[in-house]
Amino acid sequence: MGRIVMKFGGTSVGCLDRIRHVSRLVESEVNSGNEVAVVVSAMSGETNKLISLVDELDSDEFKQGQITGGDINDEYDSIVATGEQVTSGLLAIALRRRGVNARSWLGWQVPFRTDKSHSKARISKIECSEVGISMKQGNVAVVAGFQGISDDRRISTLGRGGSDTSAVALAVALKADRCDIYTDVDGIYTTDPRIAKDARRLNYIAFEEMLELASLGAKVLQTRSVELAMNNNLPIRVLTSMVESGIPNPGTLVCNEDKNMEERVVSGVAYSRDEAQITLLNLADKPGMVAKVCSTMANANISVDMIVQGISRSDNAANLTFTIGKRDLNAALKALKSSKESIGFNDIKFDENVTKVSVVGIGMRSHTGVAQTMFEALAERGINIAVIATSEIKISVLIDAEYTELAVRALHSAFKLHEKRANPQT
Ligand code: ADP
Ligand code: ASP
Ligand code: MG
Repeated sequence: MGRIVMKFGGTSVGCLDRIRHVSRLVESEVNSGNEVAVVVSAMSGETNKLISLVDELDSDEFKQGQITGGDINDEYDSIVATGEQVTSGLLAIALRRRGVNARSWLGWQVPFRTDKSHSKARISKIECSEVGISMKQGNVAVVAGFQGISDDRRISTLGRGGSDTSAVALAVALKADRCDIYTDVDGIYTTDPRIAKDARRLNYIAFEEMLELASLGAKVLQTRSVELAMNNNLPIRVLTSMVESGIPNPGTLVCNEDKNMEERVVSGVAYSRDEAQITLLNLADKPGMVAKVCSTMANANISVDMIVQGISRSDNAANLTFTIGKRDLNAALKALKSSKESIGFNDIKFDENVTKVSVVGIGMRSHTGVAQTMFEALAERGINIAVIATSEIKISVLIDAEYTELAVRALHSAFKLHEKRANPQT
């Protein structure tokens, strides 16, 4: 008997039959004597539909040259948060019809307090005492994920995939014994199983590795959710909702590093297609130039990821290439063009058809040769590398998007990730 948080993603609540199925999984936890809070995403595809309504309206206005009135992210949040309102209500009904006491909670009702960075808000505090009392009285709390209430008392959302973060944050706030993230795959794999058919499910993965994989594009968990779990030392179990209740399903435990895990040099391959590459041509090669570019981006609230500089000694000029999120490309180009004089460059080039592919592993700290294996595997397939970035436990390369699948599979097999190790932890 304990207190648990169960989170169900978009596919798991994608239609009424799936919602009925989820209600059975929740009921079986209630029948085992647990107090249960459930965090739900919108039905799969719903958030995309809502976002495309916003984008279509906005681009029509843009084409007609009527762009006035500034930022729209507060209204974007009011719109995209509605998907989770529907599923929380539907699951509460499905539970009641099974005889399980349940009520839905929207983000502002809990409340999940967030900052004002609409569309990518961060949770500042969860005041969940009322939810806790309701759970103690025997009600399942069905909480709409992804949403909160901002400092300015508007609906806010936590960025794509944000229900994972809602679930982990709620589990921490409720002092839950477990946080189970149910999805459409049965755990964390060595790479996206949709791309490499021989990807292998891991029994365990260290917080740090999962954090890198998530931030480098493995959408199975939102980065912020892993960060929160790591900071609060709350293990997360990732498992599939596509099983009948009562059938044991170990999934993957995301937890603190274990000494056995160090035996893996590379644990996984991740990719992100959400990248755009910008090159500034003919910058003056003098101190402070990169700082100016970065501050222009920071003032536009855009994070710069990979950076590479090429200098021609003969004419004292440099080219600077960097990557940003694809969604920020228009805003970045606008900001750079208006700072052209003060930064001092001749021309801008950009490319949206790029993918970042990365290998991750805590074993890289103590093993050499990973870069060599990675670059050779890509070279053998004729894949050109545009930008490289490394950290203690990852190497990332930017490549032409056309080669994404080929590169992921090549790296997965170069590091023999499909092979089961003798070590039971792997
Ligand atoms: P949910 O709707 O349940 O939140 P997501 O679509 O956000 O589910 O995340 C699950 C998907 O993440 C899987 O279907 C899989 O294609 C993808 N994925 C990417 N990398 C990995 C990985 N290393 N292990 C497992 N799944 C991964
Ligand atoms: N529905 C939101 C999204 O699609 C949040 C989530 O699924 O976690 O991004
Ligand atoms: Mg998700």
